[in-house]
Amino acid sequence: MNKPPTFWSSLWEHVEIARTLRSLRLYFDPQMCTGIWECYEVCPVGCWSRDLERGIAVLEKPEACIACGACVLQCPEEAIELR
Ligand code: SF4
Ligand code: SF4
Repeated sequence: MNKPPTFWSSLWEHVEIARTLRSLRLYFDPQMCTGIWECYEVCPVGCWSRDLERGIAVLEKPEACIACGACVLQCPEEAIELR
């Protein structure tokens, strides 16, 4: 049976996850976007805006991205990647 995590092992795991997330970057291909706005709806930090004229999303504040992956999972066109 696995031992329960100690405070230090849990903390270390979080540090490792944070390091991995910080090294990820968001890539958006506007040519694949069909303007469904899922990214705009789910982003917890408001990175996306809507270009209603062109009917596509705009990655307006990439510097605010916390790499949570929500927009990547929700985009039905696979227009967004974290790598
Ligand atoms: S969820 Fe995908 S297809 Fe929809 S607006 Fe965002 S990037 Fe475009
Ligand atoms: S990965 Fe998360 S924080 Fe970054 S743009 Fe997508 S939804 Fe927003």
